Amino acid sequence: MAQQGKRVALVSGGSRGIGRAVVLELAARGYDVAFCYRSAAEAAVLLGKEVAELGVRCRADQVDVTDAAAVKEWVAAVEGDLGPVDLAVTSAGITRDGPLVLMSEEDWDAVLGTNLDGVFTVCRAVVFGMMKRRSGSIVNLSSVSGVHGNATQTNYSASKAGIIGFTKALSKEVGRYGIRANVVAPGLIETDMTAQLGDKALAKMLGAVPLRRLGRAEEVAGLVAYLASDEAAYITGSVLQIDGGITI
Ligand code: NDP
Repeated sequence: MAQQGKRVALVSGGSRGIGRAVVLELAARGYDVAFCYRSAAEAAVLLGKEVAELGVRCRADQVDVTDAAAVKEWVAAVEGDLGPVDLAVTSAGITRDGPLVLMSEEDWDAVLGTNLDGVFTVCRAVVFGMMKRRSGSIVNLSSVSGVHGNATQTNYSASKAGIIGFTKALSKEVGRYGIRANVVAPGLIETDMTAQLGDKALAKMLGAVPLRRLGRAEEVAGLVAYLASDEAAYITGSVLQIDGGITI
C-alpha cells in the first residue's frame, strides 16, 4: 500500500536478514530508504540495486552503530541527500551466546554495545530533527529473549530488555512532539542469526513453537511497516511480539 507523500526511512543493519526485508518492504511502500551495515558490502550493493528497481531512492553506507560520531555523520549525510528522516528502524544486532559462568567481558561488551548502544546512537541522531518537525516514528527491534529471557543469552536478553525500557522511556519523552516509538519483539526468524544455532538445537526449539515453523523476515518487516504507518497513529510505547506463539 502506497504511503501518502514521499517519506524517508533509515534502517540500521539493513544488509541482511530482518533489516534487509524491512528495507524492501518500506521501498515497496514508497519510502526512500537509507540503510547501514557493518561489513557485508557486497550484500549491501545488491540490495541497493534491488531497491532502486522499485523506483525509490536508496543509500547504503558502511557505518558501525557502536560509533556514535559515525552514526551522527551518517544521519546528517542521509538527511542532506534524501531529506529529513521520517522513520528510523534499528535492526543491527548480534549474538554471542554462552552460559554466564563462561561469558567473557568481550562477548558481554560486544552484544550490549551493538544491540543497546546501537539503538541509543541511532535514535539520538534522528530524534532532534523529528522533534523540530513535530513528527516521526521509531521502531526498535528487540526479541522475545528481551521480554522473557533465554538461557545462554544473558548478554543478548539484557540488551534486548534494555531496548524495551529505552523505547518506553523515549515514547513518553517525545510523544508530545508527535513522535511515536515502538518495539517489535520477534521469536525465531529464519535469518543468518538463527542459522548459527545449528539444525539440532533449532529442531528442539521449534518443538516449542505452536505454529511449528520459523518466522520469515518478510513477516517481521510487515509488522514494522504497519507500526510506522498512519494506521498505527495511536500506537506508541508498545511491544509487539511476532513469535508463532513460542511465548504462550
Ligand atoms: P542478521 O545477523 O541476519 O543481520 C544483522 C544485521 O545487522 C546485518 O545487516 C549486519 O551487518 C548488521 N550489523 C551487525 N552489527 C552491526 C554494527 N555494529 N553496525 C552496523 N550494522 C551491524 O540478523 P537478523 O536479521 O536475524 O536480526 C535483526 C535484528 O532482529 C537483530 O537486532 C536481532 O537481535 C533481532 N532478532 C532476530 C531474531 C531472529 O530469530 N533472527 C529473533 C529476535 C530478534 P553486516 O551484514 O555488515 O554484518
